[in-house]
Amino acid sequence: MFTAHHLKAIENKSTPFYFYEVDLFRATLASLNAAKGNYHVHYALKANANPVLLKEIVSAGLGADCVSGNEVKHALDNGFKANAIAFAGVGKSDTEILRALEAGIFAFNVESIPELEVIHELAKKTGKQAAIALRINPNVDAYTHKYITTGLEENKFGINPHEFDAVLSKIAQLHHLRLEGLHFHIGSQIQDLSVFKNLCTRINEINKWFLQKGTNIAYINAGGGLGVNYHEPDNYRIPDFKRFFDVFRTFLDLQPQQVVHFELGRCIIAQCGSLISKVLYVKEGVTTHFAILDAGMTELIRPALYQAYHKIENLSVNLPATSKYDVVGPVCESSDCFGKAVLLPPTKRGDLIAIRTAGAYGEAMSNHYNLRSAEAPVYFST
Ligand SMILES: *Cc1c(COP(=O)(O)O)cnc(C)c1O
Repeated sequence: MFTAHHLKAIENKSTPFYFYEVDLFRATLASLNAAKGNYHVHYALKANANPVLLKEIVSAGLGADCVSGNEVKHALDNGFKANAIAFAGVGKSDTEILRALEAGIFAFNVESIPELEVIHELAKKTGKQAAIALRINPNVDAYTHKYITTGLEENKFGINPHEFDAVLSKIAQLHHLRLEGLHFHIGSQIQDLSVFKNLCTRINEINKWFLQKGTNIAYINAGGGLGVNYHEPDNYRIPDFKRFFDVFRTFLDLQPQQVVHFELGRCIIAQCGSLISKVLYVKEGVTTHFAILDAGMTELIRPALYQAYHKIENLSVNLPATSKYDVVGPVCESSDCFGKAVLLPPTKRGDLIAIRTAGAYGEAMSNHYNLRSAEAPVYFST
């Protein structure tokens, strides 16, 4: 719910822009810190790398999870300590690896045997030791959209169990690698916590396998993926971090010295951001009304990319939602649609529209297709 205070900060500004609720963001980070206990949390920069928000994350004491060399650099430039940066990704280039070695990051999350060899060769060449975690493909179904499922055998991510023996013999020969962790990340927007319970079961089996081989595994990195409620953003403003971590506290079997890391992105920032837009035209179609916005898939691509749902609100009209609109953007693509048959109050040119729960994978995925550009974000705090 936007209050009169929020509306004051929104009205009379050029649209479209991202609107970040800084107080809510701080409260979310405080809640995360209160719930995590002795677990370590790395923030997944790819969800939103906006420097103003990163500053809050650094102050809250989180590490960073990066998936490109530029993200590693961006994390360092924005105050994250190198020894709190994990670097994942199936396709790390030599340049990216060299820079991360130079910086002395916490871990390379390694996704294949060829990658082990390349990191080793580059570490050897530069006289470094690379701290690594093996990204394991645990074959656990995240029951989420197929484009954001990553932990199934058919996905491109991670090392499969049939390769474990080969991986260990390989690592035994690669003296510039230091195997420290096992890494798992099975997908995103996971709302059913039993998925994480299943993940714990698989982690326990795999952890046990490595221990039986006499491998010292210092930590488990359980990845990210905790989902948020896109349908009722006002009722679930802060995710239930305690319930999430409790699943791992209950079901993970750890060795006494083993610690646990997480890489959370979406759940930390999603509810703190909205995309604010204006209605340019209301057009009568043959079977529907179109509300044509000045924001499009260039600002928020999730609906076009994954048929993602975002709650859409008319901020200018305080009447019951009685009419249905296809809410679309101006971009020359039919997929540039934020929602079909969306119930709104009678809507007209000039009305302000909020597209909610857009803090994660919103601004970060925005682009300049059609040479479009958005206005600068607005940061709201009381
Ligand atoms: C994207 C990603 C995350 C974060 O996922 P969320 O669903 O945003 O929590 C964590 N780890 C890795 C390796 C990722 O690629």
